[in-house]
Parts: sequence; structure tokens; C-alpha cells
Amino acid sequence: MSSTQVPSIPDLIPRIREFVDHELIPLEPAFLKNAQALEPALHQLRGRVKELGLWGLALPADLGGHALRLTDFALVSEELGRTPIGHFVFGCQAPDIGNLELLHLHATAEQRTKFLEPLAAGLTRSCFAMTEPESAGSNPTALTTRAVREGDEYVINGHKWFASSADGASFAIIMAVTNPEAATHQRATMLIAPTDQPGWKFVRNISVMGEAHGGYFSHAEIRLENLRVPVANRLGAEGEGFKLAQQRLGPGRIHHCMRWIGLCARAQEELCRRAVAREISPGVKLADTQIAQMWIAENAADIACSRALALQVAARAEADGFKAAREDISIIKFQVAGALQRVLDRALQAHGALGMTDDTIIAWAFRHERAARIYDGPDEVHKLSVARQILKRFGRS
Ligand SMILES: Cc1cc2nc3c(=O)[nH]c(=O)nc-3n(C[C@H](O)[C@H](O)[C@H](O)COP(=O)(O)OP(=O)(O)OC[C@H]3O[C@@H](n4cnc5c(N)ncnc54)[C@H](O)[C@@H]3O)c2cc1C
Repeated sequence: MSSTQVPSIPDLIPRIREFVDHELIPLEPAFLKNAQALEPALHQLRGRVKELGLWGLALPADLGGHALRLTDFALVSEELGRTPIGHFVFGCQAPDIGNLELLHLHATAEQRTKFLEPLAAGLTRSCFAMTEPESAGSNPTALTTRAVREGDEYVINGHKWFASSADGASFAIIMAVTNPEAATHQRATMLIAPTDQPGWKFVRNISVMGEAHGGYFSHAEIRLENLRVPVANRLGAEGEGFKLAQQRLGPGRIHHCMRWIGLCARAQEELCRRAVAREISPGVKLADTQIAQMWIAENAADIACSRALALQVAARAEADGFKAAREDISIIKFQVAGALQRVLDRALQAHGALGMTDDTIIAWAFRHERAARIYDGPDEVHKLSVARQILKRFGRS
């Protein structure tokens, strides 16, 4: 298949599944031992993905991608989500995919050449720096990072953390307050900052659930100390930061949900394999017990409901736009994150002590994806937003 042909989903899905099963899942033991050390091998595999014409499936055609529709990419994302390294090897990993979409919509010609094109080709990585340790991330209007204009530059001062993949990123998209006197949602602006500038102070990779990792698979704390960014690096207009953040998060939340469903499907596969193999008393396999059968049925229901709902919301967003689908996106964000926790917990329980080890992928998923109920908006924030929208229809202002 040439890279210009748009692949059909019935052709694509089995090819991706085969690649994931044969090229990626066998690398998981090495990934679990040292994710950063595996990165060079993952870059080589990216070359194979490009040769197969499978690179940049979600990227627009003018960036050499296949411009898959959201509903099609959702199915691809589920397949890639069966392994923690799937999205990275296929060049559609967070946070880069969100930054790519944002840059594609808003980058100037210069920003496109400098930042967007190398990112789309997989030559660079990026990060998104909005959350701060000293202010509530669930209420981003409380941001304290300041960018003050001096001539043709902004000077940024602030403290960020949980900037995923900042270690090794070439540039960051930073959310900073440019006009503290403006209305709350018009105070902030997005600025593209190369990370090789003296004002970009990398503090540490944060240890998350006992692992700090490094490179792509890490989350960093950063201090911005008189970081100078040319005005030409501003993304969109001054004061448009929140508008752009919403544009970034809408598709991102659907991508996350579909990736989580892939991970659920994988955990279910592992559970079933273990259940049919593990003898729990003479002649009785775990799979023969009604408890294990209940876990399997409950997982199947969680997965099927999550998939149906996420695909329905993706279709709505595609047809009517992300703004119209905002309430639905909030619903799947907390609903699928909850299903993910339940499925992973059942899979871990079914493995007994083995489930607690890094001899399977389940403990890694359990540790890392606890965060699904927090990042891109904690459960509570999405639930409150959904309830408010519903109550509005009953006359509550
Ligand atoms: C693994 C991971 C990766 C991340 N990656 C990034 C990234 O790349 N870039 C980035 O900028 N940020 C990132 N984040 C940060 C993430 O977006 C924030 O953690 C999130 O927005 C919540 O903000 P907070 O941590 O400050 O929690 P807080 O705002 O302090 O909230 C704490 C808790 O209070 C509850 N809560 C909050 N508001 C309400 C309310 N109104 N009513 C009731 N309860 C409420 C919720 O349970 C919430 O979990 C990441 C976080 C994690 C864990």
C-alpha cells in the first residue's frame, strides 16, 4: 500500500493486530524492565510502520498522513491500545497527537515548518505544559504562570508539573496568563517554547506509582525562569488559550477512551488465558468456577458498553463538532475510565500473586492507568459538568 492510499478499515485492522501481536507484544518484558532503554528499538519499528504505509493514520493528508475519520481512528486506537507501546510506534501517541492537531489548526507557516512538520514525521517529540503544583489543575482559570510581553518576546515565569514526555521533547506548548485583568477565560495564551533555552529548567521526572522512567514514558516537573519566547511562537491570538485547550482536549478524550478499551480487551484476553490454564484444585481450572465466569462476563459487558458509547460519541463529534458533543465526551471520559479500572482489577485478581508482578502487563496497566480518572479532567469535574447541562434543561441556570 502506498502512503497516499487511504486504507480501508477492514483491511487495516487485521494488519495492525498482526503487527501488535508479532512485533510489539513480544517487546513488553523489555518495556517493563526499562521503558526508556527500549526507545531506540521502538524508533526502528517506526521505520517498519512507515515502510508498510501505516504511519500517521490520523494525520491530515498535507502532513503525509491518511486522515482517517475519527470513528475509523477510534477502531485503530483500540487495536494499538492493546499494548502500551502501540501508539508510540504508529506515531499517534499522546501528548504529540493533541499538539499535532492543535498546530495543524492554528500554526503559522513558520511554526508549521519549525515545529509541526518534524513532529508529524516523528523526528521530534513535544509536550504540553498546563498543570501547576500550586494551583488546581481541575480549574485551569486559576493558572499562575505568567507571560509578559517585552518587545517581540514573551518572558515566561512559572512552575509546571506532569508535563508528560517533557524529557527529550524538542518543544513545549505552554499555557500562561498573558492578561490577568481580562475575563477569566480570556486571560491565558498558548506559547510554543523550544526546550533548549536557558529559562527552561528541567527539575525531575516525577516518580509516579513508584516509577520515574525517563524519555517518552515520563512526566516532568519544570520551572520556567525568565524563559524568552518570540511573539512569532504564539499559537492563536492572545487570550485564546482556553479556547484552544478545549479544541485539544475534545478529540484527545475520545482517543484516550478508545485506547483504554484496547487495554481492557487485552486484560480480558490475559484473564481468559490464565483462567483456562490455572488449576486451582485437582481437575478444576479457574475458568470452571462461576466467580471467574462472572469476572469474564462483567468485563465483556464493560468493554462492549464502553466501545458502543465511545463510537457513538465519536460519530456525534464527527457529525456535529466537538462543541456539540461536549456533554457526551464528558460522559465517556468518566464512564470508560471507570470501566478500565474495574476490568483491570478483575484481571489482576484472577492472576493472584502473579497479577502483582511485572511478569504480565496487568500490574503496569493497573498502576499507570489509575491516572485515567484524573488526567484530562478528573471524574468529578466531568460529572459536575454533565449534571449542570442536564439540570439546565430543567430550568436550573
Ligand atoms: C499521568 C498524568 C499525566 C498528565 N499529563 C499532563 C500533561 O501532559 N500536561 C498537563 O498540563 N497536565 C497533565 N496532567 C495533569 C492533569 O491534567 C491534572 O492532574 C488534572 O487536571 C487535575 O488537576 P490537579 O492534579 O491539580 O487536581 P486538583 O485540581 O487539585 O483536584 C484534586 C481532586 O479534587 C477533586 N475535584 C476537583 N475539582 C472538584 C470539584 N469542582 N468538585 C468536586 N471535586 C473536585 C477531584 O477528585 C480531583 O482529582 C497529568 C496528570 C497525570 C496524573
